[in-house]
Amino acid sequence: MTGVTDSLAAYEAWTTHRHYRYRGCAPDVDNPRVAAGNPDLSLDAWSGEDRDGGEPQKDRIARERAAVEVCLGCPVMVLCGQYANSVVMDEGRARLAEPEGIWGGQLGLERHRAFIARRHEVAAAAPVRLIATKQRLRVLHALARHSDAEAVAAAAGVDVRTANWQRSRLTTQLNLDRQSATRAELLRVAVERGLLDGSVVVADDGLVPAVPPATGPAPAADVPVSEPLVASPVIPGGRVFKHKQRPAYIPGQLEFFPAEAVVAPVVPLYPSRRMEAAA
Ligand code: SF4
Repeated sequence: MTGVTDSLAAYEAWTTHRHYRYRGCAPDVDNPRVAAGNPDLSLDAWSGEDRDGGEPQKDRIARERAAVEVCLGCPVMVLCGQYANSVVMDEGRARLAEPEGIWGGQLGLERHRAFIARRHEVAAAAPVRLIATKQRLRVLHALARHSDAEAVAAAAGVDVRTANWQRSRLTTQLNLDRQSATRAELLRVAVERGLLDGSVVVADDGLVPAVPPATGPAPAADVPVSEPLVASPVIPGGRVFKHKQRPAYIPGQLEFFPAEAVVAPVVPLYPSRRMEAAA
């Protein structure tokens, strides 16, 4: 969910779009009391009419249908929905930036249902106590202020590779897709989970990935694939000796060559009757 800054950025993106003035719910130039997208529709159609005794259900359904139809032909529908469905912190509680009415072609009830579904998804992600390591939180706070990978690492006091690894961990733990999640999404969910104060988030263009593409060799590539894995020896009596370090590997040490091996007959030390019979 979006923080305050993201909500303001979404509002700005919507209202400064070059087609904003042509939005369907704008006042008609000839009759400012009706909508530009449908001259039969009052400007109140998107928020509901305030009638004594309430609006009859039949009227409400007809009004909502007509308003949504105008939205579907509106040139700024997506931006409108992004702003209205962004989330702001209100006295410590997250809520939709526009909790009431029709925005972006969706009824208020539909937008609320989606909001609640998103909250449940987020709640299913890893518990905060597992996410909030000191280094990870430092990287998260740095990411809130910077978009550039090197600037994030510098602000967090770690190298770029470590910062990227922590971003990757955060993305996974917050239940986001590492391949497609953006920085804005990661920060939005972090705010929702209480890991970050939304007011410190500096918005970007929405295209910065949550996890930058890998630039160097992966850590696993440092270990030769051919290196044999040596199991910890088991000492008779049940005690397991644990190596802290991988034992040195001497090339050829564990190899053997069947073609050159000397094959000697097997002579049993204590031949049994059955073996004697077989011989
Ligand atoms: S999408 Fe938004 S801006 Fe466009 S008509 Fe609907 S409510 Fe108005």
